[in-house]
Amino acid sequence: MNRFSYARPGSVAEAVREVSTNPAAKFIAGGTNLVDLMKYNVERPTHVVDLSRLPGLKEIEETADGGLRIGALVSNTAAAYDERVKERYPLLATTLLAGASPQLRNAATTGGNLLQRTRCYYFYDSATPCNKREPGSGCPAKTGLNRIHAILGTSEACVATNPSDMNVAMAALEAVVKVAGPNGERSVPIAEFHRLPGDAPERDTTLGHDEIILGVELPEPRFTTHYTYLKLRDRLSYAFALVSVAAALEMDGDTIGEARFALGGVAHKPWRVPEAEALLRGSAPGREAFAAAADRVLQGAVGLEHNAFKIDLARRAVIRALSQAAAGTPQSQTDKRIQ
Ligand SMILES: Cc1cc2nc3c(=O)[nH]c(=O)nc-3n(C[C@H](O)[C@H](O)[C@H](O)COP(=O)(O)OP(=O)(O)OC[C@H]3O[C@@H](n4cnc5c(N)ncnc54)[C@H](O)[C@@H]3O)c2cc1C
Ligand code: SF4
Repeated sequence: MNRFSYARPGSVAEAVREVSTNPAAKFIAGGTNLVDLMKYNVERPTHVVDLSRLPGLKEIEETADGGLRIGALVSNTAAAYDERVKERYPLLATTLLAGASPQLRNAATTGGNLLQRTRCYYFYDSATPCNKREPGSGCPAKTGLNRIHAILGTSEACVATNPSDMNVAMAALEAVVKVAGPNGERSVPIAEFHRLPGDAPERDTTLGHDEIILGVELPEPRFTTHYTYLKLRDRLSYAFALVSVAAALEMDGDTIGEARFALGGVAHKPWRVPEAEALLRGSAPGREAFAAAADRVLQGAVGLEHNAFKIDLARRAVIRALSQAAAGTPQSQTDKRIQ
């Protein structure tokens, strides 16, 4: 373990000040990812700024436009079992409960989940090169163990995936991330929050070093009946997704009125293609329409030596998730219909 100093600020402004004056400072919330990375010598902060007791970030509140704001320090458990989240955003509750284990979800926070880092084996192994950990050192995953890696949006520099379940629902629901920095507050649509690796894979998001996540705002509730989160993984619990799909439909009689779906486990960010969703609008729900949407969302997918299976797996997962959503199959552990 490397030496570091520790601060427990009493306000958001103080927290921002603590990191803005030190490029090697890091925030810590639940600590379920950062502490592991510090033990593996991947993250080496010289100053750790503990957010866990900051006032005002642990609440779930109604917004003026009929949505919900989930504070950055709300735990994944508290968000998943909040009555308003369960009723109005059951897709989000489902994805939260699909992640990690109950103990981890009790500690993990909304802000930390948004920023959890990839599970690429080489990233965690500081004895190997890795462009994300040490820019310019290389990417052994491209020709090495790449079963869990990305099939979309990759770059020469990095083929890692974003491992979060929650982020996939946030993408489908068009959440907005509220952040604060030295120059005030700003709102970042979730589609612009996570980034593709390009030639700077060390940057997972567009958040500045000196910016703090205050919370996430969900727009007015929709998709409360026809939704599914399908998570495919090597074990039935306590495992990251190989491929996942968050699907949400609004039915207009016998046809699809509105469609949203995003994929996890396939790219450096939740993968959503609005053109694929547009193909579904006005269509009759069924295998033909869902297969066309799946082909569109996966356009350009490229497999590596050990992960090419993900392309077909993702195609079938999209078709199945959309079929389940269309049928209104209960998916959430918090869904009243299956309690
Ligand atoms: C064994 C194991 C299994 C797991 N399985 C899954 C799974 O199946 N699905 C899944 O989605 N996740 C899974 N996770 C990951 C887990 O969800 C994340 O570790 C957790 O969400 C991170 O939240 P945290 O509050 O503990 O973040 P921390 O570890 O405290 O922080 C993570 C990062 O976020 C930054 N940060 C935290 N809060 C803020 C803020 N408000 N503003 C700015 N920066 C901030 C920190 O500086 C750090 O860089 C698993 C983790 C473990 C250890
Ligand atoms: S895929 Fe990305 S995280 Fe993994 S070794 Fe390559 S550069 Fe590092």
